[in-house]
Amino acid sequence: MEKKTGGGLFAMEIRAAERLGHFPVYLFDKLDADKTAVQARGVDVISLGQGDPDEGTPPDIIAELARTAISPANHHYPSFKGMPEYLQAIADFYRDNFGVALEPGPEILSLIGSKSGVGRLPLALVNPGEVILCPDPCYPAYIPGMILADARIQYMPLLEKNQFLPDLTQIPSQVARRAKLMLLNYPNNPTAAVATQDFLKEVVQFARKYEIIVAYDAPYNMMVFDDEKPLSFLQIPGAKEIGVEFHSMSKLFNMTGWRCAWVAGNRHVIDALSRLISNVDMGIFKPIQFAAMKALKNGTVFMQKMNRLYQERRDAVVNGLKELGWHVPPSRGTFFMWLPVPEKDKESIPFALELLQKTGVLITPGRGFGEHGEGYLRIALTVDVERLKDAVRRIKEAGYIYNPPQPA
Ligand SMILES: *Cc1c(COP(=O)(O)O)cnc(C)c1O
Repeated sequence: MEKKTGGGLFAMEIRAAERLGHFPVYLFDKLDADKTAVQARGVDVISLGQGDPDEGTPPDIIAELARTAISPANHHYPSFKGMPEYLQAIADFYRDNFGVALEPGPEILSLIGSKSGVGRLPLALVNPGEVILCPDPCYPAYIPGMILADARIQYMPLLEKNQFLPDLTQIPSQVARRAKLMLLNYPNNPTAAVATQDFLKEVVQFARKYEIIVAYDAPYNMMVFDDEKPLSFLQIPGAKEIGVEFHSMSKLFNMTGWRCAWVAGNRHVIDALSRLISNVDMGIFKPIQFAAMKALKNGTVFMQKMNRLYQERRDAVVNGLKELGWHVPPSRGTFFMWLPVPEKDKESIPFALELLQKTGVLITPGRGFGEHGEGYLRIALTVDVERLKDAVRRIKEAGYIYNPPQPA
């Protein structure tokens, strides 16, 4: 091939590595494009799609960032492990909220977002061909790491009849024996289900029996409603012998952009992840760690306030859609709602596309979270209650009414 180097013209074809082609196809292309097109028509799209808190980070946390950002001592490379004071604040948070004792050094590791930790965990633990048990539907960020690790993915369906908990008895024992890792996430994104202590005890037993490491993703474990109590996987007797819990400032304190999180629990798992991360990453910017410490120490009132806010929003949507004859199970936790597509013969993606076109309301089709997400829709409660009511009003006006209540 003739290479043209003169005049800056150099015609080399740049090809990405083949492994990038192994990632699942992105199912939201059409929805993203339609959203832009609908907005271009001048429609004020109400996006109930992405789960990114709309309320800002509390001012005292921002003030702590600003205060500590001034000092040049805080501008150096941070240790990937996390500052001892940051790790201690996390240990105190677990002691105060869950009665769990953690040793800050070996049992807690800082992460620049739990996505970057849970997403890379397979690379630190799983050999090619070993099985990872993964929920379906699930948070999509679990998938690329499993693929990069050449793991064999065995999906565990989350079904409504099982309260969206995986049925461990359905996992064939020869698969369980080859499994190295199980991913779990409660309160769950996208199904908004919570785990029970009994279920988590069953998980610990199962993991011990088959020698499976459990990675429990728990960014919403303080975000529960009604009579539900916050629950950490590490509270379960024996959990620390087999697993770790990922947690994050992102959803707790409206800090998604800050990239501040951690993993806690089994020291061997944390050691393996540390060995990977220390080679590919740096730690969290120190002023962010200072700000997080402050939030973890004084955050109880703020978290309660946010829970009341999300609960109020949830109730507005549940009541509004119920009046239109939709079947809307109230979420037990997270700021999501998970509900069946109200038209039985319609799949989630066409339904969401049509709804967006007709109403300017964007909700996420469940199919984007896995095969067993088909037939469902996810609503993110990350807009204010007036806008949620407006969304319901538009849905009503567009005629998405299924079983109108009888007049009194
Ligand atoms: C939002 C979310 C996370 C990621 O949080 P970051 O700490 O911001 O990376 C992880 N898991 C689930 C299930 C989430 O919904």
